[in-house]
Amino acid sequence: MPECIDLVGQIKPKLSQVFFTEQTVLISASSGTGLWEAAARNCVNKKVLTCVNGAFAERFSDVAEMNGKAIEVLDVPWGQPILPEPVVERLATGEFDAVSIVHNETSTGVTSPIREIAQAIRALPNGNDIMILVDSVSGLAGARIEMDAWDLDVLLASSQKAFALPPGISFCAVSDRAMAKAKTVPARGYYFDFISLAKSMAKNQTPATPAVSLLFALDRQLDDMMAEGMENRFTRHLAMRDRTLEWARGQGFDIFAAPGYESPTVTCISNNREIDISAFNKFLRTKGMIISNGYGDLKGKTFRIAHMGDTQMHELEELYAAMDEFLA
Ligand SMILES: *Cc1c(COP(=O)(O)O)cnc(C)c1O
Repeated sequence: MPECIDLVGQIKPKLSQVFFTEQTVLISASSGTGLWEAAARNCVNKKVLTCVNGAFAERFSDVAEMNGKAIEVLDVPWGQPILPEPVVERLATGEFDAVSIVHNETSTGVTSPIREIAQAIRALPNGNDIMILVDSVSGLAGARIEMDAWDLDVLLASSQKAFALPPGISFCAVSDRAMAKAKTVPARGYYFDFISLAKSMAKNQTPATPAVSLLFALDRQLDDMMAEGMENRFTRHLAMRDRTLEWARGQGFDIFAAPGYESPTVTCISNNREIDISAFNKFLRTKGMIISNGYGDLKGKTFRIAHMGDTQMHELEELYAAMDEFLA
């Protein structure tokens, strides 16, 4: 309906600002996982180097493989960032036409230096043939990441993390380079085909039914983001991160992330005091709050505090007061 076309037309320029891009921006009626499939299906002919430093990066790698793509895993210990040197060392072999990286690994609270990695890749003789596929599901709109200036090819995010929206839609920016590449890739499927999605999006439409209710929410949230300003948003997230690190260290906890790579949107805290995390959460729930246990293998060994989206410092202060009370 024309009303929906107007709504998407209103959303597009604002969403582009959040991605820092003038290239194609797409909206998918799926969670972020769907866009993992999209990235793998549209951008890989030869082989993708999957950089794995946590649970989500591992799943991104699995998804590429399950979509029939040849993969090679670059394994990095959990808690560590992906760094440029090992990535370009592998990519220089010429065996690969894509690399997948998670910007903000939600399971470990680690942010990888995407800008430096992309710069190092583009400096390779075959650098422009490599599709740089970046998951910033829990980073984008909270931690700085710039599609165009950093020269990325696919940058994807979900509604329910740093966008602070209800779950159910996801967004990605796709470079002109990746759009051209997609045309050379057979069997891109139907639902996540970049070519058909971009063709519809140019008319402020989608090939299949859009998640209209969530588009209204997105439009409103983008207005709030624009009003706050992206720079102010990044600053607010960094301040919440720093306060969280200070609280954790003050209570004698270690930070799971390697120093210097602590995420602006989620902090993963080592449970070196061996507290009962479920009891901790039970107590917090009585006060209307909740934190996250460690993810997967890190359950019981770590716990995580989200400081993203609409969260404000005064809310974190309430959380830390409650946590201090439990720990005392
Ligand atoms: C949550 C998350 C995902 C999965 O996204 P869904 O929207 O749940 O499909 C992928 N990557 C990261 C880093 C995440 O935090």
